[in-house]
Amino acid sequence: MQGRHFLQIPGPSPVPDRILRAMAMPVIDHRSAEFAELGKAVLEGSKTVFKTTQPVVIYPSSGTGAWEAAIVNTLSPGDTVLMAETGHFATLWRQIAVKFGIEVEFIPGDWRRGADPAAIGERLAADKAHRIKAVMVVHNETSTGATSRVAAIRQAIDDAGHPALFMVDTISSLASVDYRHDEWRVDVTVSGSQKGLMLPPGLGFNAVSEKALAASRSNSMPRSYWDWAEMLKINANGFFPYTPATNLLYGLKEAIVMLQEEGLEEVFARHQRLAAACRAAVKAWGLEVLCEEPSEQSPVLTGVLMPDGHDADRFRKIALENYNISLGSGLGKVAGKVFRIGHLGECNALTLLGALSGVEMALADAGVPHRAGGVAAAMASLQGNGGPKVAAV
Ligand code: PLP
Repeated sequence: MQGRHFLQIPGPSPVPDRILRAMAMPVIDHRSAEFAELGKAVLEGSKTVFKTTQPVVIYPSSGTGAWEAAIVNTLSPGDTVLMAETGHFATLWRQIAVKFGIEVEFIPGDWRRGADPAAIGERLAADKAHRIKAVMVVHNETSTGATSRVAAIRQAIDDAGHPALFMVDTISSLASVDYRHDEWRVDVTVSGSQKGLMLPPGLGFNAVSEKALAASRSNSMPRSYWDWAEMLKINANGFFPYTPATNLLYGLKEAIVMLQEEGLEEVFARHQRLAAACRAAVKAWGLEVLCEEPSEQSPVLTGVLMPDGHDADRFRKIALENYNISLGSGLGKVAGKVFRIGHLGECNALTLLGALSGVEMALADAGVPHRAGGVAAAMASLQGNGGPKVAAV
């Protein structure tokens, strides 16, 4: 099909031409002085995105690897952790912990909101013996489009006077949603390259606090590839203990420059504007946003519930075939019932409006009951929401 493909899944997100060009380089010797410059630049530069002055570990891995790294570096078999069932990704992270012999207390959820700080606080307050070694939450639940209030969860941990480590998955929120590793005293922030950082998949991140490092010196979980100690020792000179994903690191360097040029606060505000416009479209269509709590609706993606009796995957197939747009599928419990519109990374008002036009036309093509006017509602939202820089005279 002619024209560009609209990759509107909530990650991997489209890679900007600037980043593609930055990566189109000959592979260099990863033990050379030239590489050390690149290594130092990305190891330092990444800190600005996590809002930390503490170490950021970069793995050649998917996000799942970075999840595993957070667990094996801090916990020991038999440890208990507290997690919240926000959706499919929280469930997957839990499964990894279980495979490593961790006891997971999983606060049940209905996949329609973020983790509840009060429920976490209550559970911690009841844990007088401090058996819970870590609280682990997903900041932006990519399967549903609900964000968890990380600052409020930090507060709940503090109010309970509990010493548990705090680990947060920001795989789909970093560089899209306000996030502060140091200020919120997160011990391990897990992330990945393929969403807000606008890179192809292939880099996993752990931002690590002093408290997490101390835990990693005394925990008994075996690990090798993921071991922070070896990584940080070699990173000190800009190198990696094994062959790094050199060309993705060229891309990361460029992504950090792009984020700094736009300014992180504006990046977050842009994501909020686009998300508000997307929700306005969904509302105008007469469809339902999956995340029920307005203050937790994601700036990164919008999960849309299909009317009863209509299959979300059939609709997505029609959208792809007719308009060359990829929409996110429903995952886990909501498979077939939900589709997801990504509005993250390299996305602006017109990208979103193009995508929403595709969705609106595909809803009609698929015979899904809806009202017309979603795109117009999104346009009105964008124009009324700090959108135009130049006002009419
Ligand atoms: N956590 C979240 C919130 C995600 O969105 C994803 C992937 O989409 C993952 C973890 C897993 O990352 P990966 O698929 O890169 O292994």
